[in-house]
Amino acid sequence: MPQLATRMGRAKPSAIMVIAEKAKRLKAEGRDIVSFSIGVPNFLPGEHVYAAAREALAKDSGQYGSNRGSDALVDAFLGHIEALGLTGYKRENVSTGVGAKQILYNLAEALLDEGDEIAFPAPYWTSYLDIAEIVGAKINILPCPPEQHYKLTPAQLDEALARKPRVFLFNNPSNPTGMVYTRDEIVALADVIAKYPDTWIITDDIYNTMVFDGVGYHNFVHVRPELKDRVIFVDSLSKTYGMPGWRVGFIAAPESVAKAVTTLNSNHITSLPEVITAAAVAALSGPQDVPAAKCAEFAVKRDRVYNALVSIPGVVCPRPQGAFYAFPDISVAFGKKHDGVAITSDVDFCAALLETKGVACVPGSAFGEPRALRISYSCPDEALDKGMARIVEFFAELT
Ligand code: PLP
Repeated sequence: MPQLATRMGRAKPSAIMVIAEKAKRLKAEGRDIVSFSIGVPNFLPGEHVYAAAREALAKDSGQYGSNRGSDALVDAFLGHIEALGLTGYKRENVSTGVGAKQILYNLAEALLDEGDEIAFPAPYWTSYLDIAEIVGAKINILPCPPEQHYKLTPAQLDEALARKPRVFLFNNPSNPTGMVYTRDEIVALADVIAKYPDTWIITDDIYNTMVFDGVGYHNFVHVRPELKDRVIFVDSLSKTYGMPGWRVGFIAAPESVAKAVTTLNSNHITSLPEVITAAAVAALSGPQDVPAAKCAEFAVKRDRVYNALVSIPGVVCPRPQGAFYAFPDISVAFGKKHDGVAITSDVDFCAALLETKGVACVPGSAFGEPRALRISYSCPDEALDKGMARIVEFFAELT
């Protein structure tokens, strides 16, 4: 039988999907399951988005579109990032893709030759590792344990950039931790970045409008505009606009990078469909009340989750301030038993929790931190409270 390419030996199915699928299967078997596993928003975009899609469908030409994204979409994105304080970008600085994931894959292809180094902090979003492995990059993971609130320090960044990686990949607000860097922290990291001109900086900031407690969203470009010639800002409609299945992602980047992504689009996807484009334009340029209301709701859900977690003796959870994830250190459970079953790792913990309490969480090792687990709290309050009560109960039953 013919062989698959060697790169497929490095490609793995997403660990998150594996848990989500198991939870789905148990639910289908009639079990009462609460799923905190998959990172999808539990809301839909406003009616104006559907109206725009219906109208576009009625007029759909059925033709290929622009490899970069239509001018209307690019302009709507430029307006959106201007509202975020990212000013001075032109159409030439923008490209679009089938979600941020495909944009990140394009960027890996555009920026990394085989063996080139990419550095990123852990905990990391699972696909960073997978994408870097598929393109054959050398990976330098920068561990940011709970003791440092899962945040990268300037000293760590300095050490990493001194190795002159081709790419430094940064994510703020963070999936899986929900951490958000303050302006002062971004300034301190930007000062380090300024010292190392040979590294591209990707900021995967797709949760940028989902920030709580008045911390605000800050990018390296806000605090050091001269970094615009190396910073690649990645955005998406998936989380903040409740549109994960519409598959729309963006970059604002130096012209050469935007052009490279557009060239890859011409070979990978050709273009986004017209109907999707119309919906995306409506989402970005129409009323922003749904995203704003959802952000406020998530802040309240964060409190419910956080308060439950810190009530558990020995569990440590840096307080999330954005996105819809909490990432508690649950290692206090390791070495104990639940219902006679030994818990020696995050994977054991998540398996036992799902089996005995019907609560699905993702083991932290999927994100490079095996002492933790990820709770995605984007679910109705009733399910949230039920799931958190079961987690508290699970800990109380450990022997
Ligand atoms: N980046 C981060 C940090 C994410 O959490 C996700 C999705 O979970 C993505 C990128 C991919 O988003 P998209 O749905 O736009 O492909």
